[in-house]
Amino acid sequence: MIPVAQALDHLFAFVGPLPVETVPLRRAHGRVLAETVLAQRTQPPFAASAMDGYAVKSAEVETDALFKVIGESAAGHGFAGTVGAGQAVRIFTGAPVPQGADFVVIQEDVTRRGDLITLNHNLSSGNNIRPAGTDFTAGTPMPAPRRLSAGDVALLAAMNVARVPVTRAPVVALISTGDELVMPGETPGDDQIIVSNTFGLAALLEDLGAVPRILPIARDTKAALRQVLTLAAGADLIVTIGGASVGDHDLVADVAAEMGMQQSFYKVAMRPGKPLMAGMLAGVPMIGLPGNPVSAMVCGTVFLTPVIRAMQGLGEAPAPRLQMPLTAPLEANGPREHYMRAVVDAQGVADAGRQDSSLLSVLATANALIVRPPDDPARDVGDLVDVIDL
Ligand code: AMP
Ligand code: MG
Repeated sequence: MIPVAQALDHLFAFVGPLPVETVPLRRAHGRVLAETVLAQRTQPPFAASAMDGYAVKSAEVETDALFKVIGESAAGHGFAGTVGAGQAVRIFTGAPVPQGADFVVIQEDVTRRGDLITLNHNLSSGNNIRPAGTDFTAGTPMPAPRRLSAGDVALLAAMNVARVPVTRAPVVALISTGDELVMPGETPGDDQIIVSNTFGLAALLEDLGAVPRILPIARDTKAALRQVLTLAAGADLIVTIGGASVGDHDLVADVAAEMGMQQSFYKVAMRPGKPLMAGMLAGVPMIGLPGNPVSAMVCGTVFLTPVIRAMQGLGEAPAPRLQMPLTAPLEANGPREHYMRAVVDAQGVADAGRQDSSLLSVLATANALIVRPPDDPARDVGDLVDVIDL
């Protein structure tokens, strides 16, 4: 058995950033920016009014000053002329400040009669002008790599970056194994259950911007497994589920070895998830996850997510942890690192109850994992523990 950190290093050795492709901006959300892009324009491109009001010369702004309104500057419809002494231009938010003006008096500070305005007694401070380039100037970089958030997409649009270089989305073949498994919506036999792991992992992968490909369930025969593994050709990563412990029906390691897989490791000192396997199969990295549903999902967070991020060019790092105080005590941990299903609230974190690795109902109530080091002693309320956000 090897520690989690070492297993992760082995996995990182198998993968690297995928090639770059260019996608339209509308497809860029959630993708990983692969190359630094530059703003194609300056924003705002002109000095713009930040308020509705009147554009005037700042030197003339004083209580009771009188101006003649000579025109209007609205968003998308600037004023073509020049503001002279004693003159004002009606202006609206986002509109260009006309030539000759360098101050916007907000409309609340003005009394208007016909085309004359008088400034009130209490004038608010500030010229209410956003100089050209307040937000960004042409050539301002958006540095890569980064996963593009909704805010990033808005910024790219404003920068007029219509086509975005992103890392190609990793295609992940997901293979469940087991005679007992049927697909959701089917009618299971008396001794069968519904496959859950492929669906949970597919959702997790989609959240990361990867493309899961759910392959047919492999029955517990070598021939069936070989056939389904063959279908995985072309994927960037193969993930098998179940059949990874050393029982009579646990065939993944055998068949993969017969197909030429160089195995890198087998068994990791963690709970849940001990039977974990990895290697290269015909040039494609392959990870064998344990079958127990919670084990598979926890391994998804601990191993798959960092591997996908590495393939997307986001670097090689374990799932980020933060420290939080316990709101309920914990018993001493055993010799394996333990990833406990847990619930974070405003006060801190507590374990989510029964930690059996088959309990998806407990996983569904959890929003975090508490990570216990090997042989961690019993912990009290208020003690700080490591937490991974789910
Ligand atoms: P195995 O590693 O194949 O011995 O599976 C361990 C446990 O996980 C067994 O109870 C299996 O029925 C269950 N299991 C394996 N694969 C899946 C799956 N894809 N979805 C749900 N349960 C599974
Ligand atoms: Mg099985």
